[in-house]
Amino acid sequence: MSEAPRNSSTGPTEAAAIAGVPHASGTSAGDVPLEKTPLETYVPPAKPSLIGLSRAQISDHLAAIGVAPAQRRMRAQQLWHWMYVRGARTFGEMTSVSKDMRAELEKHVTVDRPEVVAEQISNDGTRKWLLRLPSGNNLEKPHEVECVYIPETDRGTLCVSSQVGCTLNCSFCHTGTQRLVRNLTAGEIVGQVMVARDRLNDWPSSASSPPGEEKTHRLVTNIVMMGMGEPLYNFDAVRDALLIVADNEGIGISKRRITLSTSGVVPNIVRTGEEIGVMLAISLHAVRDELRDELVPLNRKYPIAELMQACRDYPAASNAKRITFEYVMLKGVNDSLDDAKRLVKLLKGIHAKINLIPFNPWPGTRYECSDWDQIEKFSEYIFNAGYSSPVRTPRGRDILAACGQLKSETEKLSARERQALRAMAMTD
Ligand code: SAH
Ligand code: SF4
Repeated sequence: MSEAPRNSSTGPTEAAAIAGVPHASGTSAGDVPLEKTPLETYVPPAKPSLIGLSRAQISDHLAAIGVAPAQRRMRAQQLWHWMYVRGARTFGEMTSVSKDMRAELEKHVTVDRPEVVAEQISNDGTRKWLLRLPSGNNLEKPHEVECVYIPETDRGTLCVSSQVGCTLNCSFCHTGTQRLVRNLTAGEIVGQVMVARDRLNDWPSSASSPPGEEKTHRLVTNIVMMGMGEPLYNFDAVRDALLIVADNEGIGISKRRITLSTSGVVPNIVRTGEEIGVMLAISLHAVRDELRDELVPLNRKYPIAELMQACRDYPAASNAKRITFEYVMLKGVNDSLDDAKRLVKLLKGIHAKINLIPFNPWPGTRYECSDWDQIEKFSEYIFNAGYSSPVRTPRGRDILAACGQLKSETEKLSARERQALRAMAMTD
């Protein structure tokens, strides 16, 4: 067991402090720092988008353009419907809103989503969009994030980012190597869902379909907060965005189809249960503190025992709403049968499922993916102990869309590196 100094505070004060902009924190000498200081600033566009705002915030904008108090609630609800049920991209499409009001809205606000600068479609149907977001000033590199759509026979999952880069530094994660960090706004998070539905043509067949006759089949059925960034270092924006995505008068994706993945920000796991109520996934990856300290340095702040307690206390934890434990398979590092045994022991008493993720290598990494037969042995042990342990099939490797490989164009891979990765994908 590692005896590195641990900060075991889980009190509300700390939760509040880490809910906003992350801060740098000290570590013992020679260690990788736990957290990065945000390098990027955010300057909102002159004309803000209504995407990502609450109904009350939309009402404030209506007040600013002179809508009478008695009308604001109804008008806000009308805009909400056009934005989130119909997918309107301009005020011009909102035919039930008076022409004068549309013109007034156009002068002051937009319903813009993030700008798509590239779209890639993988051999297996996975799609990846590179999105450009407003940056601090013209001298800064553009802020970019990626968003990935993974179609399956019975569902379509959208993998959404919460930060440009990531505050944390997990040693096996490509995103963790990125230097730039900025939190996304709620609008930029909801905006990813809007962009995906735009590009997939996943809105009701025609904006003019009469209510009740809209297309009911949806392509985006599930959301996973597993893209770039640590969602619980951007708590408020992630909460506001997920509540909008789940709102059943709008996009209406049920909270049971939304999964938030965290590397273990314990105080905000508690808040996730209380304030968001979505499904939880924990990036566990190691069953001993010593190893987890290395793979997920945040473990030095919130060690395994505290993390497990937060999972036991997670309010939605029940048979129907099990917590997913993600476990990346790293050859010779965390993939022994002894690790599997300890994993089963650790999860005793928690309604859990285990998701084994074959490691996705990236240029310059010091890790390798476990051999397939070792993954199978590990999986079999867990299965025999009573846990469902699906191995997550790597998807979209040819477009670098798999877990932990989301990384913006600001640190583009060379063509040669991409080719090497594609070759790797093909020899799987
Ligand atoms: N920051 C959050 C969510 C984004 S990462 C978190 O860490 O949970 C989504 C998942 O991909 C996490 O379980 C993460 O540990 C895993 N991951 C990161 N890099 C990976 C890689 N190179 N290969 C396989 N999985 C990886
Ligand atoms: Fe951040 Fe998650 Fe990658 Fe860790 S695994 S560096 S928390 S994105």
